[in-house]
Amino acid sequence: MDNEGSKTREQLIDELVELIVESQRVVVFTGAGISTESGIPDFRGTDGLWTKYDPGDFTYQKFISDPEARQRLWKMRETLGFSWDDFQPNPAHYAVAELEQLGKLDCIITQNVDGLHQKAGNSEDRVIQLHGNMQWVKCLTCGDRHRFEEVEKWVENGAEDPQCVQCGGILKPEAIFFGEAMPVGETMEAEKRSRACDLCIVIGSSLVVYPAALMPQFALNSGAKVAIINEGETELDNAAHIRISGKAGEIMPEVLQRVKSKLGRD
Ligand code: NAD
Repeated sequence: MDNEGSKTREQLIDELVELIVESQRVVVFTGAGISTESGIPDFRGTDGLWTKYDPGDFTYQKFISDPEARQRLWKMRETLGFSWDDFQPNPAHYAVAELEQLGKLDCIITQNVDGLHQKAGNSEDRVIQLHGNMQWVKCLTCGDRHRFEEVEKWVENGAEDPQCVQCGGILKPEAIFFGEAMPVGETMEAEKRSRACDLCIVIGSSLVVYPAALMPQFALNSGAKVAIINEGETELDNAAHIRISGKAGEIMPEVLQRVKSKLGRD
C-alpha cells in the first residue's frame, strides 16, 4: 500500500489529488477532528466535552427518565459558554463543499452533529448524518420539530424542563444518544454509498466508534481506495492506500487547490 512511510506530505497530497481526479464516486467520511479547528472540542481529548459534561447524561434512558439530565442539556450555553449554533465551518469544511461544486463528491458520511458541512455549502441531500444533529429538537411522542436555539430561549425564559407545545411530550435533540438505535435509513444509505464508491476519504476520525467506522471498511472491502487525513492514529492506518498526518484545515485546502488546477478550474 502507498502508505505514509518515507514519502513527503507533498508527495502524498499529489497522490490523493490524482485519485480524486481519476475517481468517479468519491465518498468523504468525517468525524469530530474536522471540526476541532472550528473550535468544537472532540469528546475524548484533554479539553473534550466529557471534562465538562457527564457522558451518563447522554444515554437515551437517562435523558428520557431524568428531568434534571434534560435541564443540564438545555442549559448547555450556561455550562459550556457556547451552543452548537455559534460555530462556523473552517477551511476543511469549505474544501469539501468545493469538491461538490466541482462534481467530485458523491456524498459526505459524517459522524458529526454540528451541521458545519451544510453551513459550508454542501447540499443537505449529500450529507448523511449517521449520528443525527444538534440543530433540531424533536418531540418523542408526536414528532413536532423546533430549532435547538428556540428551545434554549424557552429555558432562558424560565421553562425548566421544556415540553412539546403540541402534545406535552418529551423534547430531545435529533443527535443520537448512547443506547439509542442508529437511524436506519441513514445507516443503510451510508453502507450502500460506501460499498459503491471508488474512493473514500476519511477526515478527522479515529475510526473507533462503531458501526460508523465500518463505512470505510465497506469501501475497502469493495475494492475502493481509502485515504486518511488525521492528526492522530486511526484503526485503518495500515490498510489505507494513502495516510496523511496533520491538520485537516491545512491539508484539505491544499488538496483542493491542486485538484482545481488539474481540472483546469482554478
Ligand atoms: P474521535 O474524537 O474519536 O477522533 C477524532 C480524531 O480527529 C482524532 O484521531 C484526532 O487526533 C483527530 N483530529 C483532531 N483534530 C484534528 C484536525 N484538526 N485535523 C485532523 N485530525 C484531527 O472522533 P470520531 O471518530 O468522530 O468519534 C467520536 C464521536 O464523537 C462521534 O460519534 C461523533 O458523533 C462525536 N462528536 C462529534 C462532534 C461534532 O459534531 N463536531 C464533536 C465531538 C464528538
